[in-house]
Amino acid sequence: KDGKVYWVKISIYPNYEKNKIISYTAIRQDITDKKRVEYLSITDELTQMYNRRFFNIKIEEELSRSRREDMYLTFLMIDIDYFKKYNDTYGHQKGDDTLTKVARVILNNIKRAGDYGFRLGGEEFGVIFSSKNNPEKSIKLAKNIKDEVEKLQIKHENSSVNKYVTISIGLVIKKAKNVKNSNELYKEADEALYKAKEEGRNCVCMNY
Ligand code: GH3
Ligand code: MG
Ligand code: MG
Repeated sequence: KDGKVYWVKISIYPNYEKNKIISYTAIRQDITDKKRVEYLSITDELTQMYNRRFFNIKIEEELSRSRREDMYLTFLMIDIDYFKKYNDTYGHQKGDDTLTKVARVILNNIKRAGDYGFRLGGEEFGVIFSSKNNPEKSIKLAKNIKDEVEKLQIKHENSSVNKYVTISIGLVIKKAKNVKNSNELYKEADEALYKAKEEGRNCVCMNY
C-alpha cells in the first residue's frame, strides 16, 4: 500500500466441491527479513560485491556446472597495485573510496547472467564465468577492466608504476573438466597474479 516492495512465501490450495474447484486457500508469509539476511550474508558491505563466503560456494557450483556442460571456466584474480602506499598517502577513507570505484569498474564489465564478481578480501577481487570457447574474450575482458581502472585517473603519487591507481590481474582459463578442484584453480590464478606483479604491475598475466 505504501509502495514498498516486500517478499512473500505463498502456498495456494484449490478447494473442491463435487470434483469442481470452488475456491482457493492461500497462506502467505512475509519473508522480507529472511531475504534481507540472505542478501547480507553473501554481500560485501563496502563494495556491494559478493563476498568471500559466496565465492567459496559459487566456485564449486560453477566448476560442476561447466564440467557438466563441457565449458571453459575463467577466473580472474585482481589486486590493486601499491595499495598500502595509497592508504599511507591518502588515508584509509580515501582507500575505501578507491576500493568502491575499482569494484564498480569490475561490476560494469561483467553484466551477463552467469558472470560473478567478488571481493575476495582486502584489496583483492575475483571474477568467474564460464564460456563455450574463445579465450580471447576472457583476455579482452581482463584488459578492459585493467585499462578502465587506469582511466579513472585516481591520483597515486607514490605508486612506482603509474601516477594513477592501477591493478594487476592473474587470469586462468581452462576446460572445466581439466580442473582438478577449486583449490587448483585458485592457486593457478594466484601464481598468474604473482607473475603480473613481477612483470611490473598494471598488467594481465595468464597461467601458461
Ligand atoms: P602490491 O602492489 O604488491 O599488491 O602491493 P600492496 O601494497 O597493494 O599489497 P599489500 O598486500 O602489502 O597491501 C594491501 C593493503 O591493502 C594493506 C591495507 O592497507 C589495504 N587494505 C586492505 N583492506 C582494506 C580496506 O578494507 N580498506 C582500505 N582502505 N585499505 C585496505
Ligand atoms: Mg593484496
Ligand atoms: Mg595490492
